[in-house]
Amino acid sequence: MGKLFGSNGVRGVANKDFNIELVTRLAAACGTILGKEIAVGRDFRTTSPLFRNAAVAGLLSVGCNVHDFGVLPTPALQHSVRRLRLSGGLMITASHNPPRFNGVKVMASDGVEIPKRLEEKVEELTLSGDFEAVEWDKVGKVTYAEVLTHYIDAVLSHVDVGGIKKAGFKVSIDPGNGTSTLAAPTVAQRLGCSVYTVNSEPDGRFPGRESEPRPDNLEALRALVKATSSDLGVAFDGDADRSMFTDEYGEVLWGDRIIAIVAKDYTKRHPGSRLVTPVSSSKVITDVIVEGGGSVLLTKVGSVEISRAMVEHRIDLGGEETGGILYGPHQPVRDGCMALALILDIMQRRGKSLGALDNELPKYYQAKDRVQCPNDIKPRVLESLVARVKAPHIDRKDGVKIFFDDNNWILFRPSGTEPIFRLYAEADTQARADELVATNKRLIEETVAKLEHARVTG
Ligand code: MG
Repeated sequence: MGKLFGSNGVRGVANKDFNIELVTRLAAACGTILGKEIAVGRDFRTTSPLFRNAAVAGLLSVGCNVHDFGVLPTPALQHSVRRLRLSGGLMITASHNPPRFNGVKVMASDGVEIPKRLEEKVEELTLSGDFEAVEWDKVGKVTYAEVLTHYIDAVLSHVDVGGIKKAGFKVSIDPGNGTSTLAAPTVAQRLGCSVYTVNSEPDGRFPGRESEPRPDNLEALRALVKATSSDLGVAFDGDADRSMFTDEYGEVLWGDRIIAIVAKDYTKRHPGSRLVTPVSSSKVITDVIVEGGGSVLLTKVGSVEISRAMVEHRIDLGGEETGGILYGPHQPVRDGCMALALILDIMQRRGKSLGALDNELPKYYQAKDRVQCPNDIKPRVLESLVARVKAPHIDRKDGVKIFFDDNNWILFRPSGTEPIFRLYAEADTQARADELVATNKRLIEETVAKLEHARVTG
């Protein structure tokens, strides 16, 4: 059986491996498994209207009623599925991928992407085509609804709107031509901010910058922050679940630092709170949670892993280093607009700039690299690493994470799609982090060479 679902739904190149036949079947399978009332939304991609129609056709054919929310941020669709008590939702988006891609994110009735066991059921039914088209008089109906206002109201209900208004912040926003342009400037305006934007025209070809916001492609936002003396800058990915911030100097803050700022504030107000984050996250997050008397639950890498762990263990906070803030009191999924409102709220309550809030946090240094390794020997390479390395603690939730002491660690993760290992290290100094990556990269290369040699001669 082929593997349709990646770490965030089904994705592919539009009209190639991701095509209308696949989407129609996938939607029919989802409708059969999830229930009768299904929301459909989409992003601005040039192929999204096409795949929206395919999804709607598949859903109607198995007797589902379709609630079409039009173009909107993914978190707005997720929020609306739960608010309107629908059976599930399909979001046509390839998130932050290049414009030639498209995809579907499948939500359960709680608005969170469906868990692994349901993905497997949907996948099986999509591939077998064993769903039933209904009789002519049982075909579903399409209704249209505007849900963005409710979503924005919900985001604002979790922060001190009056307090933020009083602070009179200036905010620079870079939607990257994506769907956040429909919500983020409104959120900031309703919080009394002066709003400046760049790349805010809706355009599924993403002419402004790559859809994935990264420290190295936010020059325009950084310049805007400086030119307007903004208090912060924020950039979103194509479907507005991920956000990346700059401080008042236009310096980009890593996702981990933003999570730590939110977590530190939350645990001050709710001592003993727990937080969910993947094994690849920085220790700065653990530090602030432990200081607040709480604990951190580490998961495999992937936002759905975080969301599902939050739901299962009733945990309020989650974070993903690539710019995902999951705020349970609102909804246990990544939500870029919620992240923006939370950061502004913390700034006004603490009376500190974003740069100052960042400076309060412990400082750690990261290094990353990748190393080639054929897929079939990855498990044996990991076993031999575990056998060779002397360390007080080794975590095997996702790949192998080796803790040399409290603050120095390295993570080896086998890529699910490429013949490589990803290496992440964190340490007290940049030199130590670089050294951890360099030494362990050599160790893997040696192990791979040995195993390959054994294969050739054996
Ligand atoms: Mg996204």
